Amino acid sequence: MPDLMSLSFNNRYARLPEHFFSRVAPQPRQGTRLADVSPDCARLLGLDSLVAEMASSREDRESLRLLMAGERLLPGMDALAQKYTGHQFGHYNPQLGDGRGMLLGELQTENGSVFDLHLKGAGRTPYSRFGDGQAVVRSSVREYLASEYMAALGIPTSRALALAVNAEQVQRETLEPGATVLRVCESHLRFGHFEWLAHSGRHADLKTLIDHALREHFPECLPDTEKGASRAGEAPSAPLADETRIAAALLMFETVITRTAKLIAAWQAYGFVHAVMNTDNMSLLGLTFDYGPYAFLDGYEENLIPNHTDQAGRYGFAQQPGIGLWNLERLGIALSPLIDVEALSAALGAYEGELQREYARLMRARLGLPDSRDEDMTLVQQWRELLAAGKVDHTHAYRLLSHWDVTQAAPEALVVRLAGERGPHGNSAQARDEASAWLARYQTRVMAIGLSADDERQRRLAMLGVNPLYVPRTHLLLEVIARVEQGDDTTLEAFRERLGAPFHRPEEGSLEAAQVLGQAQGVEAEL
Ligand code: AMP
Ligand code: MG
Ligand code: MG
Repeated sequence: MPDLMSLSFNNRYARLPEHFFSRVAPQPRQGTRLADVSPDCARLLGLDSLVAEMASSREDRESLRLLMAGERLLPGMDALAQKYTGHQFGHYNPQLGDGRGMLLGELQTENGSVFDLHLKGAGRTPYSRFGDGQAVVRSSVREYLASEYMAALGIPTSRALALAVNAEQVQRETLEPGATVLRVCESHLRFGHFEWLAHSGRHADLKTLIDHALREHFPECLPDTEKGASRAGEAPSAPLADETRIAAALLMFETVITRTAKLIAAWQAYGFVHAVMNTDNMSLLGLTFDYGPYAFLDGYEENLIPNHTDQAGRYGFAQQPGIGLWNLERLGIALSPLIDVEALSAALGAYEGELQREYARLMRARLGLPDSRDEDMTLVQQWRELLAAGKVDHTHAYRLLSHWDVTQAAPEALVVRLAGERGPHGNSAQARDEASAWLARYQTRVMAIGLSADDERQRRLAMLGVNPLYVPRTHLLLEVIARVEQGDDTTLEAFRERLGAPFHRPEEGSLEAAQVLGQAQGVEAEL
């Protein structure tokens, strides 16, 4: 088993030209406690047994704490803050960069993957401007839990390895306790990295960054002769030939478009509102990235705007597909000094179709429609209207539907739940009729496939495997945050465990037991 001192780092970003970043050191803290470590994220890094073993011995727990809180850097780490810019709420801001996050090092795992270890809330950097370089428990718990939840849903995301709480008090609207999150992903490259170089006219540097992105993160876009990621200690490779770069960068742009479209389709299908889709928060790898005032839908609310500073509603739930395209256009503009504008625009034409196809695929899975028919999107639209009209809980609705054996009549309890709460008279006869009518259409659609009893069981099991039972609701997160602020991390750990296995998929034999609707209404539905 590897020990901490022998982990290997391949700090590829640190080999870019010096002005792409600033060397920094995390700020020392008072009274740091390691609140939680994610075993799933540790496994991704091949560190699970190491972390588990360290957690079981008192001395090693101390080393683990120092590492996870960024208080001790390991041999081979090379901490830096990255320079980037970006469009915030529609306006270009040249003054951005890691203002409180630091890339500690790029960890090379035993299977050859490389992951950024990035400490958020690590202290001031040359890009902090007026910021204090800190993160608070509130935002850190929210990022920590949401990243691990999204990963468990299968939605691309940055990960969170550990949450550490310190004894510093940080001024926000009130004084709040400080914290750090150790964030993990294959690259922290943002659309804003490219915007910085394009908007400041540094076209030679833009070529260098594109070559880096292609070689390290999009090798599939390069011709075979140019493939091969760099190794630690190696001199930087020669620049790509211009024609090679142009062709490969266009392929990379197409890949980013596809990944972004699929990502946002997943957000729409699972009711996630990012809430700060500035281009500096857009991952080049198409990951959910930089969690801020995000929310998951409670009721199906097209206009949910969780960020109270977003007065224009730019980043509301229903706006996300359009904003994704707008952001990709900013990336295209940043690439336009080197790539033909017509080719870039043509590539953007694929976005809408990719997003719609992926959304349809996810919604069919969530509704348990085993094949694809033209009228399906009408059924999906009517389903959303039904949920919106009755303010039906978005997560519970799919879970309840997953329990219905459609060879039987719709259970009364399901009808009542989908009728929801409407107006002063609550669950009116009309609302129930509408719910029954949709369920009847759905039943006809599913039965049209000609399912055997066994197919129907399999169909419902598949639905239970894509429709989560748990969701990090804002009010529940507030409870976890309050406990962590009081020094109690047990609730955080319990939430992280549940959110890490959000489908709670029953064994096949226990389907009938899990099918009891009361269970889905009561305990099963509540975190
Ligand atoms: P965000 O809204 O979190 O995406 O941050 C936008 C920019 O502000 C980024 O350049 C951040 O690094 C920077 N920033 C956010 N919070 C702080 C802070 N507390 N101290 C310094 N810089 C910050
Ligand atoms: Mg950001
Ligand atoms: Mg942020």
